[in-house]
Amino acid sequence: MSKKLLILPGDGIGPEIVAEAVKVISVLQIDFGLGVEIEQAMVGGKAYDAQGHPLPETTLQLARQSDAVLLGAVGGPQYESLPRELRPERGLLGLRSEMGLFSNLRPAILYPQLADSSTLKPEIVSGLDIMIVRELTGGIYFGRPRGIRELEGGEREGFNTLVYRESEIERIVRSACDIAMKRSARLCSVDKANVLEVSELWREVASRVAKDYPGVEMSHMYVDNAAMQLVRAPKQFDVVVTSNMFGDILSDAAAMLTGSIGMLPSASLDAGGKGMYEPIHGSAPDIADKGIANPLATILSVVMMLRYSLQRPELAQRLEQSVEYVLDEGLRTPDIHTKGTERVSTSQMGDAVAMRLQSLAN
Ligand code: NAD
Repeated sequence: MSKKLLILPGDGIGPEIVAEAVKVISVLQIDFGLGVEIEQAMVGGKAYDAQGHPLPETTLQLARQSDAVLLGAVGGPQYESLPRELRPERGLLGLRSEMGLFSNLRPAILYPQLADSSTLKPEIVSGLDIMIVRELTGGIYFGRPRGIRELEGGEREGFNTLVYRESEIERIVRSACDIAMKRSARLCSVDKANVLEVSELWREVASRVAKDYPGVEMSHMYVDNAAMQLVRAPKQFDVVVTSNMFGDILSDAAAMLTGSIGMLPSASLDAGGKGMYEPIHGSAPDIADKGIANPLATILSVVMMLRYSLQRPELAQRLEQSVEYVLDEGLRTPDIHTKGTERVSTSQMGDAVAMRLQSLAN
């Protein structure tokens, strides 16, 4: 049975960058026989404008039936005054929780051609290739009780609950072990076990799960040290697995090591390999409709989709090679443009990748 792909362009630059990913997907369909069934639907602000809700029931139904969802981005200043439950971001959060996407994969890759984009010295970051696996549906962002309460005497107190069940820890660590097996098999579990009981349990369960993967070499690191090591010597890491909040912070720091937000893809997976794929950046309303957005993060999200949900690693490799080729040729959208390289538009970049990919089919 053929796999199903749902495309959600979203808001701001979303439709522009997704259009370039669609060019590439068309080449995969026509020239490489990818054979996926494709649907398109609305999410975020566009969906609110048209249907009064950021995640319409029809979109949710299509997402549930899909093996993979490719999302552009959602949000924009015109939606900021809406009630919280109608804001575009609710569409995203709704999709994540309704699809059970608990494993968030955030690679931080610095292509050698872009080593100058980083704020760190090229020798520290050139060739960087880290995968951060962040737990996405548990931990302190969801734990209850939570709130702000008034104490005796009138002072207010804010409180949240950090809680993880063994089963939640186990499934994210398994997900990370599976990924580590596809890479160098080095996995670093990040916690704060010297202070937090939750982390003590996290470390114990992580070590137990790793025993089921004799090929995986697991190490443990405290989160404060991990933050320091990430900027001191980032290439020591291959795969990192951590909780929701630690992952949120560390993956943003890792992303900035590469210096180019327009280059980084992400995947959020369920237990069976279904997933949602999206660039890590937002809807960039400041550059929308100008034809200058970098579509490569979205195209690289297609690479992840081929690898993790469509089980076509050979096509993932061809597409990745095509991106590297256009970078080698010196093509750059304005966000990654430097002296001596050729400045191109969003669609010129998409065309160049699609053409290169097509040439690899012959
Ligand atoms: P942003 O990531 O949209 O933009 C930050 C900066 O990076 C901007 O200067 C933007 O022009 C630039 N940028 C982003 N993507 C780019 C690309 N592909 N090519 C070139 N430059 C790019 O973050 P923001 O400005 O804080 O947020 C804008 C909107 O996006 C907000 O409504 C926010 O809520 C939303 N947002 C959505 C998501 C998502 O859909 N997953 C994630 C983050 C923010």
